[in-house]
Amino acid sequence: MEINGTNHTRSCYQSWWWRDLVNFCGEGEGVGWFQQALVWNIRSGNSVRFWEDSWIVDNKLKDIYPRLFSLSVNQGMIVGQFGFWDDYGWHWNLNWRRGRFQWESVMEEELLSILSTGVLHRGSKDFITWRGDAKGVFSVKSAYSILVDQRNGSDNDVFKLHWKAKALPKVLITAWRILLDKIPTSKNLISRGVDTNSPLCALCNLSEESTQHLFMDCDVAYRVWMLCFRWIGIGSSKQGHM
Ligand SMILES: [Zn+2]
Repeated sequence: MEINGTNHTRSCYQSWWWRDLVNFCGEGEGVGWFQQALVWNIRSGNSVRFWEDSWIVDNKLKDIYPRLFSLSVNQGMIVGQFGFWDDYGWHWNLNWRRGRFQWESVMEEELLSILSTGVLHRGSKDFITWRGDAKGVFSVKSAYSILVDQRNGSDNDVFKLHWKAKALPKVLITAWRILLDKIPTSKNLISRGVDTNSPLCALCNLSEESTQHLFMDCDVAYRVWMLCFRWIGIGSSKQGHM
């Protein structure tokens, strides 16, 4: 059964049992809770469609960038067909029907910045893990917990609501990277072995530059935020945790 595609139910709709199961999993309302609880672990990109599956962010790239999707000559193709390997590693290669306008090129750069957060692994196959369990293994108990959390409104809803917000893709992507702690702070760069001049915050030079510090704790950044809030006419509190 192909779980993450659209063909897996077509031949099975004759079965009432299967139809009920599919309805329970949320199919028919776009991506249901069951699919959202599945996480694609990309290796060689051999199983997942680049535009049409949710694999690098919690949304389909064709829904985030419908304009770029319409320009792509590789619609329906898998991740591993969007680039090539050489001696230095994997290189993304996005092919378009025509040259891009300036604003489309900006989107392409944003898309490439998203892709830079994912690393392909040569020679091994993509696989699925289950979000509801620390080891990634499905169990009825964990599925039940996800449904209960969903009904009560859990932190996971932040991620779902996030992509529905009416904001520019660039803003959504930056906010998403903050939520996942994928901002290139000194702390994150050092943890990846990148040499930085200093682990300290470039704004205040007092604390380690982490995502939490930059966006919640830094006094210098806080003053900038307050100026922004004053400019758009809303109040704010510094109390918070990411
Ligand atoms: Zn600081």
